[in-house]
Amino acid sequence: MTEMVRKITLSRAVRIMQNLFPEEYNFYPRSWILPDEFQLFVAQVRMVKDGDPSWKPTFIVKPDGGCQGDGIYLIKDPSDIRLAGTLQSRPAVVQEYICKPLLIDKLKFDIRLYVLLKSLDPLEIYIAKDGLSRFCTEPYQEPNPKNLHHIFMHLTNYSLNIHSGNFVHSDSTSTGSKRTFSSILCRLSSKGVDIKKVWSDIISLVIKTVIALTPELKVFYQSDIPAGRPGPTCFQILGFDILLMKNLKPILLEVNANPSMRIEHEQELSPGVFENVPSLVDEEVKVAVIRDTLRLMDPLKKKRENHFPDIYTDRKHRFPPVSDRMPSSQLPVVRSQQLTKPLAAKEDPSDSEPASASDGNTDPEAHLPSICLKQVFPKYAKQFNYLRLVDRMANLFIRFLGIKGTMKLGPTGFRTFIRNCKLSSSSLSMAAVDILYIDITRRWNSMTLDQRDSGMCLQAFVEAFFYLAQRKFKTLPLHEQVASLIDLCEYHLSLLDEKRLVCGRSGPAGGRPLDSGSPPDATPSAPPVEGHPPSCTNSAPKAAHSRHTLS
Ligand code: ADP
Repeated sequence: MTEMVRKITLSRAVRIMQNLFPEEYNFYPRSWILPDEFQLFVAQVRMVKDGDPSWKPTFIVKPDGGCQGDGIYLIKDPSDIRLAGTLQSRPAVVQEYICKPLLIDKLKFDIRLYVLLKSLDPLEIYIAKDGLSRFCTEPYQEPNPKNLHHIFMHLTNYSLNIHSGNFVHSDSTSTGSKRTFSSILCRLSSKGVDIKKVWSDIISLVIKTVIALTPELKVFYQSDIPAGRPGPTCFQILGFDILLMKNLKPILLEVNANPSMRIEHEQELSPGVFENVPSLVDEEVKVAVIRDTLRLMDPLKKKRENHFPDIYTDRKHRFPPVSDRMPSSQLPVVRSQQLTKPLAAKEDPSDSEPASASDGNTDPEAHLPSICLKQVFPKYAKQFNYLRLVDRMANLFIRFLGIKGTMKLGPTGFRTFIRNCKLSSSSLSMAAVDILYIDITRRWNSMTLDQRDSGMCLQAFVEAFFYLAQRKFKTLPLHEQVASLIDLCEYHLSLLDEKRLVCGRSGPAGGRPLDSGSPPDATPSAPPVEGHPPSCTNSAPKAAHSRHTLS
C-alpha cells in the first residue's frame, strides 16, 4: 500500500483512469512525472500558453515519497524546476497548483478524511463520517512571484504550520488552526451551501481513487498470498487529503498509507521548548476511527461466526441459550455476553442508532456510540462498477502471471494471453506481438524504479491492452474499445475453462484458479464483434449515474 500511494505511483494510476474516463477523474490536478516527463511538461505548458497568452499558471513540485510538505515548492514556469542533480536521485511530481481554494477566515485549509479499506476482494470501502480540517496560518493570496515561497500561506501541512507564530490551538473543535470537518460543513450549511452535494462529491472522489489503486494492489497482494486460499484478513486505514475549491469541487491532493494517529499536539511553552498536550479535535476524530475499525474487523466476530455458523446464516432463528447447545467444557473462549446477540454483529452497523446498556441490551457494543464508519462500497457499487475496467485487466494479467510471487509478465505469459484470448490475426502476427511486448516492456522498465525482476509490469500490460483495443475496435471511444476487448478476452477464457472442465482438467487456462474479483456481471455471454461492442454492463453510460447524490 505504501508503494501504491507514493506520489508517482498514484499519479500514474489516476492517469490511466483519466485516459479512460476523463470527466470522472477530473478531481486530480494535471500532473507530470519528473525527470521522465520533463520535456513533455515543458512542451504541453508551452502549447497551452501559445494558445492562450493570458494563462498564467502556477505549478507545485512535490518529491516522490515525501511527506509533511518536505521539499515542496511552487513555480511559475517550467524553467524554474530545480533540475540540477536532485531529480535523478529524487524523482518528483509536478502538478497544476489549485489557485482558487475555498477560504475560511481568509485562510486556505485542507481536509483529512479517514478511509477504511476493509477488503480488497470483494472491494469494501468505509469512510469516517468526520475528518480534520487543517488551516494555513497566513492569509491566502493567489500565487504571484513575490509570495511563492510563503509556505504558511500555500501549504496546509500541520507539521509546517505548527511552527508559525500564528498557529492557534483551540479547545473548541470549530475554531483554531485544526478543526473538525463537520464544523466546516456546519458553517457552510449556515451560509446556504448544499453540503449533501459536497459530501456526495467527496464520497465519489474516494471511491474512484480506490478503484484506481486496487488493480495494482491486487497484483502486489497475489504475489504474497496464494490464490484460492483465504489469506490473512488485511485491512488498511488510509488518510485522504482533499482540497475544496472556491466552487466547492473537491480535489484529491494525496493519499497516505500510514496517516498519523497521534492525539496530542506540540505546544511551545517558551521559545524552543515544546510540550505534548492532548488535542480535542484529534481525539474526537481519530479515536472513533480506530475504535470502529476494530469493531468492523473484530477477529472475535469471525471466531463466533466460525463456531456457530448456522445461527449467522439463519436470521429467523433466535440463538438458544449457549448451555442448551453444548456442554460448558466445550464452550469457546468467548464471553457469554458476546454470544447473546450475535445477529447484530453480522449486520452492517454503520447506520445503527447508539445502543444503550440500560435498556436490557446485552450487545457487547451496547455501551459504544454509533459507528462512525460509513460503508460506501459495495453500497454504491452499481454507480461505480463501470469504472472498474483496469481491475478486470488486472485479473487477466494475474491469470497469466504464472509462478506465485511474480508481479511481472514474461514473454511466454504474454503470448499465451494473446493466444488464449484469440487476439492474433492476419493483421497481428505473433512476431508483431513479440515486438509489442519488447517495446513496451523495455520502455516501462527504464522508467520505473523497481528493477527487481524483468518482464512486463501491470501498467505496461495496460498500455499494450489499450493498443490492442484501439486496433481492434477502431471507431469507438477508448473506454468502449477497452471494455469490448476485455469482454472478448473474458469470453474466450470462459470457453476455454468450460472446455477444460469437460475434458476433466481442473483450473483455468493460464494455470490459475478463476478470479473471484471480477464484478458478477463481468463474464460476457456473447463475443463482441469488431466495431460493435456488446451491451456491456460494466461500460454503462456514466452520465446517468453521476447526477445522483450519494448520501
Ligand atoms: P505532503 O505529502 O508532503 O504533505 P501534499 O501533496 O499533501 O504533500 O502537499 C502538501 C500541501 O501542499 C497540501 O497539504 C496542500 O496544502 C498543498 N498542495 C499540494 N498540492 C496542491 C495543489 N495541486 N494545489 C494546491 N495546493 C496543493
